[in-house]
Amino acid sequence: MSKIVVIGANHAGTAAVNTILDTAPDQHQVVVFDANSNISFLGCGMALWIGGQISGPEGLFYSSQKLLQQKGAMVHMLTTVTKIDFDRKIVYAEGGDHTRYEEPYENSF
Ligand SMILES: Cc1cc2nc3c(=O)[nH]c(=O)nc-3n(C[C@H](O)[C@H](O)[C@H](O)COP(=O)(O)OP(=O)(O)OC[C@H]3O[C@@H](n4cnc5c(N)ncnc54)[C@H](O)[C@@H]3O)c2cc1C
Repeated sequence: MSKIVVIGANHAGTAAVNTILDTAPDQHQVVVFDANSNISFLGCGMALWIGGQISGPEGLFYSSQKLLQQKGAMVHMLTTVTKIDFDRKIVYAEGGDHTRYEEPYENSF
């Protein structure tokens, strides 16, 4: 089983995680880091919210930490990747609570 680290879990990151875990769920361990507090934010929906066509921001997300974790990903929110050592293949990240991560990988997206 190879480990894949996904940096950023908005549209590109969510698509990567879904594709990896939907097509080859038992072949890859997926670790996700996002500096933000949410996943899959539809920026284009802001106009609908501001224009009163939808009542709140709830409809502006089509995925979540929970949904990605249910598929088997390890998802770290509010955690910023601070450095990538491409030679040693290690991703370094720090959480809002100052927890530090050193995540080795075989592949990165
Ligand atoms: C108001 C608004 C309206 C828009 N309307 C449209 C539209 O109508 N049509 C359209 O096609 N596009 C629209 N867009 C653009 C669209 O939202 C972007 O093209 C899209 O979000 C890009 O997705 P992405 O996943 O590639 O990157 P991003 O959305 O930029 O996601 C990057 C993710 O990586 C995370 N990240 C970045 N650096 C780090 C780090 N060091 N460590 C950890 N995490 C990190 C960020 O927190 C973020 O979640 C709109 C954007 C906005 C803001």
